[in-house]
Amino acid sequence: MVDTHSTNSLKIIAIDGPAGSGKSTVARALSEILGLSVLDTGAMYRSVALVVLESGTPLEDFKECARIANEIEINLDHGARLGSRDIEKEIRGPEVTTAVSKVAAIPEVRVALVARQRQWALDHGGGIVEGRDIGTVVFPNATLKVFLTARDSERARRRQSDEVSAQRSIAVDEVAQEIARRDHLDSTRAVSPLVADPDALSIDTSDNSVNEVVAEILRHYSAKGEQ
Ligand code: C5P
Repeated sequence: MVDTHSTNSLKIIAIDGPAGSGKSTVARALSEILGLSVLDTGAMYRSVALVVLESGTPLEDFKECARIANEIEINLDHGARLGSRDIEKEIRGPEVTTAVSKVAAIPEVRVALVARQRQWALDHGGGIVEGRDIGTVVFPNATLKVFLTARDSERARRRQSDEVSAQRSIAVDEVAQEIARRDHLDSTRAVSPLVADPDALSIDTSDNSVNEVVAEILRHYSAKGEQ
């Protein structure tokens, strides 16, 4: 079992925040500048949710959900893959989006995925890790912790534009409701709720460009003696 101590010496930028706050965009931009790998932990929870749904596993069957989280072959290096199967489209689809926060609230699933996230950091020599509990639980000693937020209307607008890019048409109001439902489940669950770490650099990305947000993060990263 990989504990937090074994990852303490790694360079890790933890980026947490709710859906549509800009985590993935900012993580990708930072990765290009710093040459660090990126781990989208939301894609891991989505991959588990997809297999849980496809196998007909009831969400009450914590043991089987945890077995899936421990055993499935998730590869996120070039889009999401399950073994050799490309699942990028399915994990972003409405069925998975509806189920994922319930799957992510299962403590045994979290234990399994947190261990895999720490192992990923060891295998990659650190990196940029984005999710909901990265600075609080997964890497409490991360080099830099960032918490991104944005106005609800802006987050819904961004997620709707992702949906349009993926050729799914959905009204912005519906996206807003879906995000609010997920925010609620993610922030009120008993284990590892979405919450800003007191040490995190908090940035509201509503009215800032990606470059401005990235520049601010890099300023704090350099101030910690990193480059
Ligand atoms: O980031 P994304 O919106 O794709 O995440 C999907 C869901 O996965 C979140 O709504 C949350 O329920 C779960 N998640 C989590 N912890 C993380 C990352 C994602 O609980 N570190």
